[in-house]
Amino acid sequence: MPCEVKLRFVVLYGSQKGQAESLAEGIAEVAEEHGLVAELSCLNQNEKYNLEKETAPVVFIVSTTGDGEPPDNALQFVKRIKEKTLSNDHYKHLCYALLALGDTNYANFCNCGKTIERRLQELGAKQFYATGYADDGVGLEVVVDPWIEGLWQAIKGALSKMASDKADILKGEAEDSPKETPDSSTPHVQLNLLRITDHQNCESIKVSAETVSKFATAASCSAPSTQTAVSDLRPALPAGSSVLALQSRGTASDSTSALNTQTENAGVPQVSLAASLTCSLPPLSESPLNVPTLPPAYLAVSLQEVDSLEQIVGVLNKELLLEAPICRAVQLTRGDSVKMAILLELDMSAHPMVTYHPGDSFDVFCPNKATEVEDVLHRLGLHDQRNHQVHISILKDTKKKGAQVPSYMSQSISLLYLFTWCLEIRSVPKKAFVRALVEHTGDGVQKRRLQELCSRQGNTDYNQYVRDSSLSVLELLTAFPSCSPPLSLLIEHLPKLQPRPYSAASSCLRHPGKLHFVFNVVEFPACSGRPAVRRGLCTGWLFDLINPVLVFSGKDESSSSPALPKIHVSLRPNCSFRPPSDLSAPFVMVGPGTGVAPFIGFLQQREQERKENPEAIFGETWLFFGCRHRDGDYLFREELEGFVSSGTLSQLKVCFSRDEQEEEAATSAARPRYVQHNLRLNSQHVTDILLKQNGYFYVCGDAKNMAKDVNNALMEMIQTELQVDQLEAMKTLAGLREEKRYLQDIWG
Ligand code: FAD
Repeated sequence: MPCEVKLRFVVLYGSQKGQAESLAEGIAEVAEEHGLVAELSCLNQNEKYNLEKETAPVVFIVSTTGDGEPPDNALQFVKRIKEKTLSNDHYKHLCYALLALGDTNYANFCNCGKTIERRLQELGAKQFYATGYADDGVGLEVVVDPWIEGLWQAIKGALSKMASDKADILKGEAEDSPKETPDSSTPHVQLNLLRITDHQNCESIKVSAETVSKFATAASCSAPSTQTAVSDLRPALPAGSSVLALQSRGTASDSTSALNTQTENAGVPQVSLAASLTCSLPPLSESPLNVPTLPPAYLAVSLQEVDSLEQIVGVLNKELLLEAPICRAVQLTRGDSVKMAILLELDMSAHPMVTYHPGDSFDVFCPNKATEVEDVLHRLGLHDQRNHQVHISILKDTKKKGAQVPSYMSQSISLLYLFTWCLEIRSVPKKAFVRALVEHTGDGVQKRRLQELCSRQGNTDYNQYVRDSSLSVLELLTAFPSCSPPLSLLIEHLPKLQPRPYSAASSCLRHPGKLHFVFNVVEFPACSGRPAVRRGLCTGWLFDLINPVLVFSGKDESSSSPALPKIHVSLRPNCSFRPPSDLSAPFVMVGPGTGVAPFIGFLQQREQERKENPEAIFGETWLFFGCRHRDGDYLFREELEGFVSSGTLSQLKVCFSRDEQEEEAATSAARPRYVQHNLRLNSQHVTDILLKQNGYFYVCGDAKNMAKDVNNALMEMIQTELQVDQLEAMKTLAGLREEKRYLQDIWG
């Protein structure tokens, strides 16, 4: 009789922002439901696992950061497996699966995962399940969900194969007939393809007729008086039509009769219904759902009234940060520009030991918006306890593997402080969070909709209404008024409030004791679930801080402005995105919009160097800049033209994406609109600098479109100039990246 033994496997993750970590934890948590035991470790905890001796299947979940680099906590591991001294059968015994997370908006998609995979294979490891490459640019879950769904079967297959191979070997040994073939000592593994249709292991939810009638009742009732008006919830639906949509969730006969009744009773005309954040349409509204497993709760949170809780009012760990007064705030764009760009000058004279270089960035530490913090506290019913001390501990008997109190939460903070400085309350709720919210939602309609949003069937809706709209948790809670999560759930699911980096737009040589940076005030348009435009967290906060004293570029910047506030920053050095150390090396800079920021620093430094080294030979410098209108958002125009006049900048190529249309219509001549068009027009020069003169190519700014378009343009230019095919051009570009002569500093 086979006895019930839980079979083990190993889960290793490398994670920069916590996504790979939480996926790895999720896998470890549900392993038991599949009759398996997972051993979970971070790749840098090498005392907790031993790949050299590992006989169980190993699952790697790794993200990629920066310019294709491994996350910090995977660096050592990647370095170790890259050792040239390792033999090509070093991991012959190892059986692995790998899920790589990346973002196609950035160069070197999933590079860390690919590097690990390549090395594992070079070292003899065998793959037991097809590698998943999940793209944050379109939604990780598109690949992650089916990949995890198929993983369980694959692990079991690998385990049974390994067991039978082992039995064969033992049998062979027992018969004393060593017939070692090249394959017999390594498990012969079956590569499992992703099976998106395998429903066996997923929770299937059928909405009952009872729930449907509850929907109808709930939908026709008004929301509880303390909550936001329900009319906000269904902006696209005419009166009464929400009932039609909601009733269509029942069985076929239920929905038909409900529909008929509605049509007959209310005389509602046939309308084409629109889905929204809170309302779905068939087929989704009628579909059985596969929702993720409920993540186990793991934190116990209590609030305590204390007499003397020292109220911390600013950012934590102040001593590690640089406090800098803002000494100047200048609006660089005209009042009617689509985007508002602002230059801030910080006084760094209190920190003489901190020297930054052009190309470096600074993290700006900002709090959550006070009104939103208030709203969250009200929503949780904890506003009166906002000054109470928060105690957080691990829930006894939690099923969460490796549960830990988040390290960034100090034990002596108030609830108000927690929501102001510690948790990113603007973060887009992950599906696991939405799943957890289902359990705390009273209203049947709302519960079903939340189930849809976290289900596999509701992927498109989740992407459209939650992810792509950058919906915050607060916006989600406002749209689902019957959802009342406990405080502990928010602490478990909200990520750490992160500082925002900004590129230095100045050189210390030119502005000793000062630091400049430039930012666009980010705006999120109104959408289903967000009735009005919302500003970005940090840029909105900075804007509110400096708005009273903002001056326009070129206008009198009198020094009599009222005192400006101080902010906290910390230096983020970037050792590769620097002007070439060899002054004679030519370089090309591409920085449309605020992407020009670091290049202002590059050019200020170059100007000083030219003054200090009149005899030296300086390489050519090219800058490609682009904006909408010559008179609206041509940032740093005077300074750039000054660099050209002084000879610091050899070529300034500027294009205007909107002006040119008008001029073009008048002249009927095609003009460059975007930086990549201007690059193509100067193809020969640019490729000469890069390929013949050993020069450098820098790109800064928008990661979503511009950086990709520039990359494509560069590839085509190389193809044309070198007369090679696309593959060769790609190799040339890869070589330039490797040599750190094609460098990107991109965001968005
Ligand atoms: P949040 O509330 O955090 O919202 C962020 C959302 O806005 C994201 O969904 C993102 O897709 C979008 N977003 C991010 N940046 C932009 C943008 N510039 N324009 C439109 N949408 C955006 N930004 C600058 O303006 N100037 C800089 O010099 C600069 N340097 C950076 C350097 C580095 C190394 C990095 C990683 C980022 C840099 N950024 C810069 C981006 C900056 O850190 C913030 O992401 C940006 O200002 C939005 O912050 P927020 O808190 O206002 O928006």
